[in-house]
Amino acid sequence: MEEKLICSHCGAEITDDDYSMVNGQIVCSDCVERYCCTCDRCGATIFDSDAYGDEYTNLCRYCYDNYYTRCETCDALVHVDDAYHYNNSDYCSECYHDIANENSAIKEYGYKPEPIFYGESQRYFGVELEIDGAGKDSDNAREILDIGNEDGEHIYIKSDGSLDDGMEIVSHPMTLDYHKNYCWAEIMKKAVSLGYRSHQTSTCGLHIHVNRICFGESREEQDEVISRVLYFVEHHWNELLKFSRRSEYTINRWRHVMATKIRLKQLWIKRRKATSEDTPLLIFATIVQLSSAYSEERLN
Ligand SMILES: [Zn+2]
Ligand SMILES: [Zn+2]
Ligand SMILES: [Zn+2]
Repeated sequence: MEEKLICSHCGAEITDDDYSMVNGQIVCSDCVERYCCTCDRCGATIFDSDAYGDEYTNLCRYCYDNYYTRCETCDALVHVDDAYHYNNSDYCSECYHDIANENSAIKEYGYKPEPIFYGESQRYFGVELEIDGAGKDSDNAREILDIGNEDGEHIYIKSDGSLDDGMEIVSHPMTLDYHKNYCWAEIMKKAVSLGYRSHQTSTCGLHIHVNRICFGESREEQDEVISRVLYFVEHHWNELLKFSRRSEYTINRWRHVMATKIRLKQLWIKRRKATSEDTPLLIFATIVQLSSAYSEERLN
């Protein structure tokens, strides 16, 4: 007499060999349908309650233990081949790059830390100075940071795609007085000694950001001051062209880029319905392509 096959899960008798082996046990196709899934790596049928992984990936215990890991930061499931290792831990690509960016001397272009305001005033200036010609080099960046950040985080360094072989030094917002007493001269001497130039290049610029609220209390007052600044620039265009040490072509290109940027920013502010306080506006950028000597003189 033939032995009856019984589903180990529901106890039903199995006919027509309609069953699967799950974890070494006979399980009827109904139970498989209802309570089981397939390991996405090895194809084994497993009970839902024995499945590891996440909402997108089902894994048997073996595959989970041997082929997958979890991101130390966000707990995402990551295949070992895709995992990044750092300090004896595994990370997903995104978290790893965040950490690498955080730890590297040269931040990526989009890096924007919480601003630290130095000095006491309504008016703060943030400087972005591009230097070129001696490499996007971490060791160089570190040497510059060591000088600039000796007394706390005052500057950071970012990569900038518009440069051939350089990087961008960015300051946290500081009052004019604070800038004057800050070690800009030492930073620039160091940059020059490392082989960087900011003048006599076709790539570099100096940008200065100003906080919007220093122009007035209300949005209207601020806009009025900004229009006066824009008027000043338009009215003295020829003088500023000389001062900027740019060619007519490059400064026009800059003007076009800035106009687009400002329009985009205003659009963004509108969409975000942001308040004027938290929207420092880039009003006056890249006018000056200073020589190191010249900028030292200006800042001292
Ligand atoms: Zn069953
Ligand atoms: Zn498996
Ligand atoms: Zn992660």
